[in-house]
Amino acid sequence: MPVSRKKTPYFVRPPTAVLTRGFDPRLSVGSARPAVFRSSTYVFSSPEAAERAFAIALGRSRPSDGENVDLIYSRLSHPNAEIVEDQIVPLERGAEEAAVFNSGMAAISTVLLSSCPPGSSFIYTTPVYGGTQHLIHQLLEPLGLRGVPVSATATNELARAVRETPNLKLVFVETPANPTLAMCDLASVVKAARSLSGHAPLVVVDNTFMGPTFQHPLVHGADLVVYSATKYLAGHSDILAGVVIGKDAELVASLRGMRAVLGNILQPDECWILNSRLPTVELRMTRQSKNAQRIAEALAGHPRIKELYYPSLFTDPEQVRIRDAQCDFPGAVFALELDGGKRAAFDFLRRLTIAKNAVSLGGVETLACHPATTTHSEMSNEELAAAGVTDALVRISIGIEDPRDLLTEFRAALDAL
Ligand SMILES: *Cc1c(COP(=O)(O)O)cnc(C)c1O
Repeated sequence: MPVSRKKTPYFVRPPTAVLTRGFDPRLSVGSARPAVFRSSTYVFSSPEAAERAFAIALGRSRPSDGENVDLIYSRLSHPNAEIVEDQIVPLERGAEEAAVFNSGMAAISTVLLSSCPPGSSFIYTTPVYGGTQHLIHQLLEPLGLRGVPVSATATNELARAVRETPNLKLVFVETPANPTLAMCDLASVVKAARSLSGHAPLVVVDNTFMGPTFQHPLVHGADLVVYSATKYLAGHSDILAGVVIGKDAELVASLRGMRAVLGNILQPDECWILNSRLPTVELRMTRQSKNAQRIAEALAGHPRIKELYYPSLFTDPEQVRIRDAQCDFPGAVFALELDGGKRAAFDFLRRLTIAKNAVSLGGVETLACHPATTTHSEMSNEELAAAGVTDALVRISIGIEDPRDLLTEFRAALDAL
């Protein structure tokens, strides 16, 4: 197996660990980068090894320390998945194990389907990513799961819902919320969940907007972190991928079991691409956040901007408190509410040439979109109002371009409105 279980003999920090874990060139004819193993099936070293591999894969037995278990079939796992899963762990503070999926939605749906049986309940914060909302209303609720929505910023209401919802199996938190960056108090949710000792629900955090560099939910006591790795982790708008990361190896192993049933593991080529992006996540996110902060703070106060949503510009004391408690830097997404409604928002987008009018975020290139008519277009008027998504709102994800060029472009587009 090309995956190295060998541990570095002394402590190394995350930027070193991500470059030294998981892959041993000697196990792969000396190649400095991992090969891509495009094989659907794996040849067993003996019939006994096959029997043993199946016993472990089906949960009838546990591998002993240092045991080399044969691979079986790539829907269960494959070398490139094992390598990327091992290398991503040091990037998430407090993590022990990871599992990769073929999209963020695959990761989220697998977590919810494996943790919440029919008849049980889960809480989710609102606003929540559009795909997650679809999953809840169109698949989970018809299957007999009860989803309880609570506003991400309603700290006390959320804690009360956690304590009082019957048969609660999971709390799904998305913070910051999209597109206004409103933040949910992770420590408070975890405290409420832990108070239900004996039947504590899992706390799962969608950390796509701030993680793994700026926000560390496992440190605040969350059980699992989920990612759309399509965004910052892969970072170049060229693959779809999802990751679940946690502290409890058994819990992550059970998700891999469900992944084998659903058939939504990340494929070898995508694993290899994601793997090559991990060493630069911190570099990219740091530059993107610095760019965004410089641009957002310079645009604040422009006469055509009615509201600018960005963590370093928060004024609400409660939101400032949560931000300071759980985010190291403000991140690279901001939203502008323009003066002049939908027309102004569309005119602004039309004038952009460096920034591209596209959904998604987290890539090295700057993207801008109009949430009300695209990413959030299926929300009701009440939901849009509650989420702060007006017709005049534009969401921008800043890349690694020179921030002065972007600022020139945004100022020109605003001045022309
Ligand atoms: C994009 C996104 C998802 C879904 O991820 P995919 O990789 O597109 O399936 C989930 N949550 C958030 C916050 C996202 O931005």
